[in-house]
Amino acid sequence: MTAPTQEFPRLSAERVAALTGRVFSTSGETIASVTPVTGEKLADVPLSSVDDVAAAFARARKAQAEWARVPITERAELLLRLHDLVFERQRDILDIVQWESGKARKHAFEELCDVAMNARYYARVAQQHLLPTRRAGLFPLLTHTVELRHPKGVIGVIAPWNYPLTMAISDALPALVAGNAVITKPATQTVLSGLLGAELLADAGLPEDVWQVVVGEGRRVGAALIDQADFVCFTGSTETGRSVARRCGERLIGCTLELGGKNPLLVLDDADVDKAAECAVRGCFSNAGQLCISIERLYVAAPVYDAFLERFVARVEAMRVEPAFTFDADMGSLISEQQLATVTAHVEDAVSKGAQVLAGGKARPDLGPYFFEPTVLTDVTPEMTCFASETFGPVVSVYRVADDDEAVAAANDSPYGLNASVHGRDLRRARAVASRLRAGTVNINEAYAAAWGSIDSPMGGVGDSGLGRRHGVDGLLKYTEPQTIAVQRVPVAPPGRVPYDVFARAITTGLRALRKAGRR
Ligand code: NAD
Repeated sequence: MTAPTQEFPRLSAERVAALTGRVFSTSGETIASVTPVTGEKLADVPLSSVDDVAAAFARARKAQAEWARVPITERAELLLRLHDLVFERQRDILDIVQWESGKARKHAFEELCDVAMNARYYARVAQQHLLPTRRAGLFPLLTHTVELRHPKGVIGVIAPWNYPLTMAISDALPALVAGNAVITKPATQTVLSGLLGAELLADAGLPEDVWQVVVGEGRRVGAALIDQADFVCFTGSTETGRSVARRCGERLIGCTLELGGKNPLLVLDDADVDKAAECAVRGCFSNAGQLCISIERLYVAAPVYDAFLERFVARVEAMRVEPAFTFDADMGSLISEQQLATVTAHVEDAVSKGAQVLAGGKARPDLGPYFFEPTVLTDVTPEMTCFASETFGPVVSVYRVADDDEAVAAANDSPYGLNASVHGRDLRRARAVASRLRAGTVNINEAYAAAWGSIDSPMGGVGDSGLGRRHGVDGLLKYTEPQTIAVQRVPVAPPGRVPYDVFARAITTGLRALRKAGRR
């Protein structure tokens, strides 16, 4: 079904100009922002030069020195104002994200909620983790030790296009509340959403230059950003992540890498198959599968395989796939021609080698230039590309497994380890299966939202899925430099003319006493 484009809420030239005017650029060059919804040009976005990146860092360093002096409570207040703003401006935000990414409105809504939840969480916990903390000293009473948490300075955030608002802002919020400045480089396909983030933060009261956006290709502008940053938060593909890590390594700066996945969903033999099928649809096709934590492999226990598959395929076939600026669509477009080509190639390769298509399987140019049907494959084998490689599209392979052990072994047979999902009625058993999965997050009876949305707990990948974590305390303290300050009341040396062997005996007795007393 195609809705006529004139019914879509158009982005006015003034609205677009208000966003693109936020890019600091002296290059005179622009890049076209093209909407996947219709293939039309939305804007000519100014490109930043390498010199512009250097100038942005110079301004950010100045602004950061001031920002770090603002009390934590005031920095936290700003996050709460941002929280309120994203809901007040919901319609505008959803329109811009949809125009730029082509995703369904419900998936754009997930982005907005993510920003709000991160803002609330880090506003509430900042004081607790950032204020000076008393630590056990060398000797009780004689050593007074405190750990400080200084901001690292200017953080570089390099973001992908798939969740353009979330990825541009959410990871920057803990950095800001910790007293850092941030320079974000959004993916070139989704610059407007990144600039929207700059606008929201400015309107929430963030001082000028504390959060800036630079625009350009990764190899040039992204690299320039890494060359000046004090820490890099990268989200994107595993291949790019490796090169970012190498560059950060050269400079001896830290980085977190949130990379790709080939995430499994396990349906155990005691699962409620109706609920599992409903959840699998959301898990596989959120943002047309262009979600790092979405599901691309389904392992279903033999006793429930047929019942699950029947319900799953029926639900997939009933999905509303269409361009719509209402919450009615279940799935929208892919982002680009390149993404459409990858998805098409994975399906064609699988089919040519014997895979069965139970639902979908083809592009839908009648809906928009990059639409592809939600696709369910069976009989997928290791020689097919989609068996092990991330498709990052609406394609899922379903496998029959004999028991929990086979399901766990198959799920873990991947270089990735980002997210996983387990469905079963016996929660003890499901938890036991979950803990055997090699993945940074595991959701029981949910696909990804439960673990991702538990912002108090760390989120990230193992193996080819990344290094380090976002969310939780890890997601905040990674942006800080710890400093230990210890005050010693008596010298750590033999007093007066006391011989060293006497001193050593006294120390030995003292340390043994601490051990007996159960001290740390
Ligand atoms: P990508 O790696 O191509 O690009 C990501 C960002 O890196 C873009 O801003 C790009 O311009 C920049 N970049 C590219 N080359 C660079 C370089 N040499 N130096 C510095 N920056 C460079 O990824 P993508 O295609 O935009 O996003 C899709 C990928 O992101 C998928 O693999 C997906 O799984 C992954 N992803 C992971 C998470 C997560 O949390 N683990 C979240 C979203 C997306």
